Amino acid sequence: MPEVSDILIDCFKKVMFRFRPHHLVCFLSFQGKGYNSDFVNRVSEILAVLKDNSQEKLISVAQGCDNACEKCPNRNYEKCEDDEVVCEKDDAYLKLLNIKYGSKLSFSDMQKIRTQVHKDDFTKICRYCQWFDICFNNLFQ
Ligand code: SF4
Repeated sequence: MPEVSDILIDCFKKVMFRFRPHHLVCFLSFQGKGYNSDFVNRVSEILAVLKDNSQEKLISVAQGCDNACEKCPNRNYEKCEDDEVVCEKDDAYLKLLNIKYGSKLSFSDMQKIRTQVHKDDFTKICRYCQWFDICFNNLFQ
């Protein structure tokens, strides 16, 4: 009998993952920490599928709440409670990474983002996030 998470991962393989732009950077530096265990499990499962299929374009850059937000306690109906701030981050990364809503990326493409984000840009865009230090250390040290 498969585990529930195996079934979920199997379902994920058949769909695109919606990623809001700033999550491309967040999840590059994901260290198994997050807003609660549901959120951490969701991100871990998404990343596991992406890593197993690293050349497939399974990521669709999306506006607003995405597949990770679905499990976040800060989501209020279809919006983030911190919507204004996170949308500013999304806009900033769209410009910096030269991508558009609807762009399709593979995990391998996502990893190349490490070379596109300079530490000054990262600091400017993400400095007020509660996870800033963890991500900064992972990306730049
Ligand atoms: S804090 Fe907002 S943008 Fe971040 S995962 Fe939660 S709902 Fe999504």
